[in-house]
Amino acid sequence: MNREEALAFVKPHLTEKRYIHTIGVMETAITLASKYAVDQKKAELAAIFHDYAKFRDLDEMRNIIVQKSLDPLLLSFHSELWHAPVGALLVQQEIGIVDEEILSAIRYHTSGRKEMTELEKIIYVADYIEPGRDFPGVEEVRKLAEVSLDAALKQSVKNTINFLLKKEVPIYPDTLNLYNWIVTKGE
Ligand code: GDP
Ligand code: FE
Ligand code: FE
Ligand code: FE
Repeated sequence: MNREEALAFVKPHLTEKRYIHTIGVMETAITLASKYAVDQKKAELAAIFHDYAKFRDLDEMRNIIVQKSLDPLLLSFHSELWHAPVGALLVQQEIGIVDEEILSAIRYHTSGRKEMTELEKIIYVADYIEPGRDFPGVEEVRKLAEVSLDAALKQSVKNTINFLLKKEVPIYPDTLNLYNWIVTKGE
């Protein structure tokens, strides 16, 4: 599937703003893939489809989580987390993407997880630093991404957890597992 075909599949599912975000993630992911020697074609497709399920109906996503035996814990955490694992499933079912590396990059783009693959890291970081993002701390992560993918990943998850702590909302285990893994990695 080429870029134009993939973008045509995803566009009807997104708002204009989210489509522009997707293009930003795609361009950033390709740049990171080139810098860190990861398959650029896989980075491009994973980025294009990463938010495929972002606007699915909550009841539809809840049913998919139950019926397809996705992590049942998801249901007791914020629904914002659901579009990543549900998206991986729907991209497989509705688009026919079967490449497990691409699917897992979509599946873990919101929470991350321990022992992330290089492609998973790229989509997670690209989603965080694409040019349309402007939250506090993003510029620091952009700079880190130029020198170390792991350093950028670590700073992204630290910022995300800080943000969630301030809001006093539950932190999904995979997010904490990513943090614990990345801060002890290389010790
Ligand atoms: P987007 O889809 O491009 O907006 O970005 P993401 O998929 O990365 O993130 C969506 C939202 O999920 C963000 O607002 C994050 O703060 C939130 N989020 C990420 N991890 C967690 C978590 O562990 N718990 C909760 N409650 N929210 C999280
Ligand atoms: Fe997302
Ligand atoms: Fe993200
Ligand atoms: Fe996104």
